[in-house]
Amino acid sequence: MTTTSTPTPTQWPVIAKDLGRLAVAPNLLDYDRARADFSWDDERRRLAGLPGGGVNIAFEAVDRHAAGPLAARDALRFVRDDGTVHALTYADLTAETDRFAGLLAALGVRRGERVFSLLGRVPELYVAALGTLKHGAVYCPLFAAFGPDPIRQRMSIGGGAVLITTRTLYRKRIAAQRDALPELRHVLLVDADGAPEPGTLDLADVLAGVRGPVTIAPTGPEDMALLHFTSGTTGRPKGAVHVHDAVTAHSATGRLALDLHPDDVFWCTADPGWVTGTSYGIIAPLVQGVTVVVDQEEMDPERWYRILAAQRVTVWYTAPTALRMLMRAGAERARAHDLSALRYIASVGEPLNPEVVAWGLEAFDLPVHDNWWQTETGGIMISNYPAMDIRPGSMGRPLPGIEAAVVARDDEGAPVEHDGSVALLDDGEVGELALRAGWPSMFRGYLDEEERYHRCFAGGWYLTGDLVRRDADGYFWFVGRGDDVIKSSGHLIGPFEVESALLEHDAVAEAAVIGLPDEVAGELVTAFVEPAAGVEASDALRRELVGFARRRLGAAVAPRRIEFVDALPKTRSGKILRRLLKARELGLPEGDTSTLESGR
Ligand code: AMP
Repeated sequence: MTTTSTPTPTQWPVIAKDLGRLAVAPNLLDYDRARADFSWDDERRRLAGLPGGGVNIAFEAVDRHAAGPLAARDALRFVRDDGTVHALTYADLTAETDRFAGLLAALGVRRGERVFSLLGRVPELYVAALGTLKHGAVYCPLFAAFGPDPIRQRMSIGGGAVLITTRTLYRKRIAAQRDALPELRHVLLVDADGAPEPGTLDLADVLAGVRGPVTIAPTGPEDMALLHFTSGTTGRPKGAVHVHDAVTAHSATGRLALDLHPDDVFWCTADPGWVTGTSYGIIAPLVQGVTVVVDQEEMDPERWYRILAAQRVTVWYTAPTALRMLMRAGAERARAHDLSALRYIASVGEPLNPEVVAWGLEAFDLPVHDNWWQTETGGIMISNYPAMDIRPGSMGRPLPGIEAAVVARDDEGAPVEHDGSVALLDDGEVGELALRAGWPSMFRGYLDEEERYHRCFAGGWYLTGDLVRRDADGYFWFVGRGDDVIKSSGHLIGPFEVESALLEHDAVAEAAVIGLPDEVAGELVTAFVEPAAGVEASDALRRELVGFARRRLGAAVAPRRIEFVDALPKTRSGKILRRLLKARELGLPEGDTSTLESGR
């Protein structure tokens, strides 16, 4: 790996790839050629397809490997807290997911019904996700650090029929609001140990009664497979619907953007409660038939290096917040371990600072490859590739099969159109990232919110809500969110959800929630609160509100900081100007308070 001094928009030197020094020949060697030759139908032909016709994500990820030479390969390797490993081969995973699918059938769960998980990185989550897909039901993960409010809201919108969780999570977050979830017929506890809570089932116990292989549901490419919740600036959480054909994109991106090769050992550090932990923590690598490492514990630099070394991880997919934490701990910590198996590092979810890309060279002799996508896109859209020079600070270039452009919105927030088509901006201009609609993992709707879904499209383009610019060589650079949504430690947080929780406290008259920059987490959730009439702002009230928000929303979503104000800035029509608050906090000019009023 050599560096040259060609200046980039961030003035960081380009990291030029020396193809002769790459450990493995990259899957995508010639970017322009790959784009020219690419077709999604060719990618579909790479999949096996269900024996009787149709496509099912779980069959592509598991059963087809179990029926061939990969049967005895480790599919999933769970690293426990003491460092010991519990592995499931592709054959094991087929048998276990069959049993879970058989259980859903025995419970009378119908195709298309929703099965939710509220779990950490335990084997049961992976088995439930894939077993649900085999049964033809829809899998919906929930982040286990959510408090009761976000859980109830998402399960109500999704109409969850089944929930798989732990005893503690059930007791603390579900039991008291079970009546508010009339559609929830079955709760499966992974740790009931023969003594389930009232109203729940002991998963191990009910599984014991299920035998034999199942016939995978003959799902079609457009059948709903996954439901992933995400947040907008306003309104309730949005349930992004994904279909079984998404596996075509998971397969392609696993090969081209993550550069997975048959013998790889792959570690995706994302929490399985979010979309990355599903698309790339489960589906994409299994479709490629590689071994997936899962760490059951929380992030800790020393532990992570030990796992990278002991598991001989070759491809590592992680996130800027985690990399910044590792960077703080010092490159020498990485260098103290034998990380010689590692050949490719990729990152997603938040802006990746150029410093971190360069730090990768110091710590691992490898740069970090940023890539971009979001819940709605279902898979990686823009990426740096192993064979391609890196411009630190850039998200890279669109995947083959993906057409990306930059579009303008007018003062009203509508995309600027000329003669019925959306006006595209020139290189160097800042606008909204748009993707030509129609790739296989594109979301097919927001559950029960057709109008909101349609607002995301114009002139055949999907409008992402992110602000970017493209340079003359086709590299995309992230500029910021076009809306007020917050990214904290990689989690997407809707300000409205946090404000609504605070407003339920009697001492709060008004609340506005924004993200303020933080060196490690990217942004920290910060609330500005106008106390109710007659209520005194005080440290005790601040503590009370933080505790109140944490109990309702969970620690990952609740505000870290609360400031009291006499009045919140508002438009004439009474809408809170979060942008103005942010500008004031950051000492920026208050003039630019525009938002993309797209209602996403
Ligand atoms: P989510 O839907 O939770 O996966 O969040 C998607 C959002 O995260 C995007 O719309 C971006 O705002 C942000 N994001 C994802 N990847 C990147 C990246 N590589 N650089 C900057 N922001 C990113």
